[in-house]
Amino acid sequence: MGFTSQILHSDRRGGVEHGSIHKPIHTAVTFGYDDAHDLAAVFQGRQQGYSYGRQVNPTVNALQEKITIMEGGVATAAFSTGMAAIGTTLFSLLRNGDHFVSSSFLFGNTNSLFNSFAAHGIEVSFVDATSVDAVAAEIRDNTRMVFVETIANPRTQVSDLEAIGKLCKQHNLVYFVDNTLTTPYLFQPKDADASLSINSLTKYIGGHGNALGGAVTELANYDWSEYPNIYDTYKKGDPSNWAITQIKKKGLRDFGASLGPEAAHHISVGSDTLALRMDRSCRNASTLTSFLVQHSGISRVYYPGLEEHPQYELARSLFRYPGAIFSIELKDMDCFEFLNRLELFICTSNLGDNRSLAIPVAHSIYYEMGPERRASMGIDDSLVRFSIGIEDTDDLVTDLEQALS
Ligand SMILES: *Cc1c(COP(=O)(O)O)cnc(C)c1O
Repeated sequence: MGFTSQILHSDRRGGVEHGSIHKPIHTAVTFGYDDAHDLAAVFQGRQQGYSYGRQVNPTVNALQEKITIMEGGVATAAFSTGMAAIGTTLFSLLRNGDHFVSSSFLFGNTNSLFNSFAAHGIEVSFVDATSVDAVAAEIRDNTRMVFVETIANPRTQVSDLEAIGKLCKQHNLVYFVDNTLTTPYLFQPKDADASLSINSLTKYIGGHGNALGGAVTELANYDWSEYPNIYDTYKKGDPSNWAITQIKKKGLRDFGASLGPEAAHHISVGSDTLALRMDRSCRNASTLTSFLVQHSGISRVYYPGLEEHPQYELARSLFRYPGAIFSIELKDMDCFEFLNRLELFICTSNLGDNRSLAIPVAHSIYYEMGPERRASMGIDDSLVRFSIGIEDTDDLVTDLEQALS
């Protein structure tokens, strides 16, 4: 079955109470057993079941299964936010003295998080991940992992995803791909040999801007029996389950950044229409960038769907569409004046919403990192990032036209 048919019917196929077409919202924080042996068996992992809500509950589990289907993976752990998914996963798989390589074109908070790891004895090298050679040059004896985003924002660099996957295989490194900007509808990291895929569910997968969430999916491309940091307790059964079990226990259970059942429900309902929304948002982004690139008030447009983009061909070969995020640099107009003239676009952070959003990057989300790091990431003071939604295309064009005139 196709992408949408599978996810639309995934709750029901898992067996839903009363024939309900959605998995209901289970709010109980704990689950009781008539026979204490069953409780013990659940705790010991010998029996399927639920114990305490911090680890998982039936509503969250249904969403995890849906995401596993989207990613073509084997298992998923859901978290309260995308940041929780990244932070707790890396914490559970890395140890003091380890090193990892990361793309330097990163979501701002991920950049901040990775800098904090250094203070805890886990070193990171930031590299230009559009080049596999730059990644290869940083691999050392204690390197455990490579972390990249599919399309970075705001400048829309595309990582050399397949080549980095081959490199990681060669060096037996864990390959961690943040798939948030592409979603599993545009790209499946599994096909690029990724070990784990992370999605901020807050963005396109939920889509409606009404719930925070994150997820990590095991893709069964890495042999965890070769990985030095798995605790003996989790070395049971098929090695493809070892890391995700450790992430669920040492990450989710011990840190407690659990996804709530109400948020899981919102995200699950939103995800039913992921493919339809992505089709529309990406088409809108393509039309808008074609309009902006020839506009006299604009000096640069960064979008992997434009032929002038340095990874245009790479994006074409990897992704169903080149995404729905782009950035512009304005020629003469002040970016605040431009933003304040927009009537339909919402001036805000976040991305991957059904509504179109715009933000002055250097003055907001990338303000804290300071002018030097901004310059190294190619972020101009006039840069405006857009996240394009599902509005009627003509209305978006009209709004940009009037704001630029
Ligand atoms: C938003 C985002 C995150 C973090 O997700 P939250 O749900 O906001 O914590 C991580 N990576 C990327 C690429 C993102 O866009």
